[in-house]
This record gives sequence, structure tokens and C-alpha cells, in this order.
Amino acid sequence: MSEDNVCRRLVGRTGVVTGAGSGIGLAATRRLASEGAHVVCADVDETRGKAAAEETGGIFVKADVTDPEQVEALFAAAYDTYGSVDVAFNNAGISPPDDDSILETGLEAWKRVQEVNLTSVYLCCKAAIPYMRRQGRGSIINTASFVARMGAATSQISYTASKGGVLAMSRELGVQFAREGIRVNALCPGPVNTPLLQELFAKDPERAARRLVHIPVGRFAEAEEIAAAVAFLASDDSSFVNATDFLVDGGISGAY
Ligand code: NAD
Repeated sequence: MSEDNVCRRLVGRTGVVTGAGSGIGLAATRRLASEGAHVVCADVDETRGKAAAEETGGIFVKADVTDPEQVEALFAAAYDTYGSVDVAFNNAGISPPDDDSILETGLEAWKRVQEVNLTSVYLCCKAAIPYMRRQGRGSIINTASFVARMGAATSQISYTASKGGVLAMSRELGVQFAREGIRVNALCPGPVNTPLLQELFAKDPERAARRLVHIPVGRFAEAEEIAAAVAFLASDDSSFVNATDFLVDGGISGAY
């Protein structure tokens, strides 16, 4: 976004971002900060999380999002430092194990993906909502994926199931807390050019080519394009957007 076109929709708001050190989380941290938010950067990777906080003028909290106590401490740190928890971008996640076909994936690999991609979102919502209820205001954005909406013959059973869970949980919470001023949306990106995707495609280059064929715009998203949607969902510009699966997928879901 050019300097003379910067929105300032989040001045005085506090946004917690998990997975802030890389990819979509890093781009969203930058965008939320550029719109005036205080950012709380959470990541299990201390070096990258700290760098994100230093760059954006926020604070870093080392947190493994699968650990209930660390997640509680994360949201407490946000409140103690800035006095509110207005936005929770629950985004940290991992890619599928090497062979994520139901015929191959082992139970431990399945459990790990559910823990990092789904249980983490449960823990973050559980920690954020009490602050938001007291304020009578809040926006929660949980990162799901377009694969939560669509089947693909790419054998990602544990990953897809985890993202389907994020989508259903977001819808449920969005409906439950709407009258208390809390909106909850699932963000469903298409394939985004981040380390997670690059790692996946490095293992299986043909998969990248297969994916591209199905994207009407003919390319993968840049993380900044997803961050723009996060900022919209975080801001009052989306005040009537709730309990949705918010697709930012270059037209994949509309194509045949
Ligand atoms: P990424 O690998 O670039 O970044 C993920 C970040 O999360 C890293 O900084 C990592 O250290 C952190 N993280 C991982 N496990 C953690 C844990 N247990 N506790 C705290 N932090 C942890 O990935 P990305 O592509 O930016 O993906 C972000 C989210 O978007 C994920 O939930 C992913 O599933 C989802 N997503 C990605 C794509 C894509 O194509 N890249 C598409 C749809 C959805």
C-alpha cells in the first residue's frame, strides 16, 4: 500500500497475532501496526517473533500456542501492556506431514496437526473472549484455509480436517457471542507464497504446478494480500461481517 493511501482504522486498538514471525502472520502484524494498532507478536520462534515486534513497535511474547498456560499468559500480557484485547488473529499453524493421505498418516502426526492448527485456536479464543466480553467489543480472526471448503486430491487429511474444525468453531463462536459485540470469522486463504507453502512444494514440485492450474488469477497470493483482509476483518469496516468463512482465494472456490 502506498504511503498516501494508508488507512488508520485501528488506532488505539490492540491486536494479538500468533505466528507473527513469518508469512501471513508477519504481513498481518505489519499491516495492523501500519493502521495504528498496538501489536502483540506471539511465536514459538524467538528470533523471528522478536524481529517482528522490533520492526512494528510492538511487544514479543514467546508462546507455544498448544500450551494453555502460555496462551493465557499471552493474552494477559496484551491486556497488561496496552489495556485491551481488541483483535485476536489466531493464525499460527503447520503444514501437513510428508504423506498426509489417510492411508499413510499415523495417529501421532494426525494428533500433532490437530494440536497446532485446531486446539491452538480453541485455546486462543478461550483466552481472548473473556477480555472482549468485558469490553463489549472484539474481533477474532481464525486462520482456516480454502481446503476447509473444498476437496482436492492432494492427500491432506489431517491438515484439511484441522482447518474444517477451525471453520466450524469460528462460525459457532461468532453466532454465540455476536450480541456481546464480538465478531468471529474464519479467514480462508488460497495458496499463499510463504515459507509454509514453499516448504510443501519443495517436497513435491509437481503439486505447485497442479495447484496453479486451478487458480483463476494464475498465481499464488502474496502474504500482504491476505493481511489486507485481516485488517478489514479487524476493523469496524467489517462491523456486519460475522461467523463467515472469509475466502481470499483468487477465485478458486468459484471456478470449475
Ligand atoms: P509460516 O510457516 O510462514 O508461518 C507460521 C508461523 O507460525 C511461524 O513463524 C512459526 O514459527 C509459527 N508457529 C508454528 N507453530 C507454532 C506454535 N506451536 N506456537 C506458536 N507459533 C507457532 O506459515 P504461513 O504460510 O504464514 O501460515 C500461517 C497460517 O496460514 C497457518 O495456519 C496456515 O495453515 C495457514 N494457511 C497458509 C496457506 C499458505 O498457502 N501459505 C494457505 C491457507 C492457510
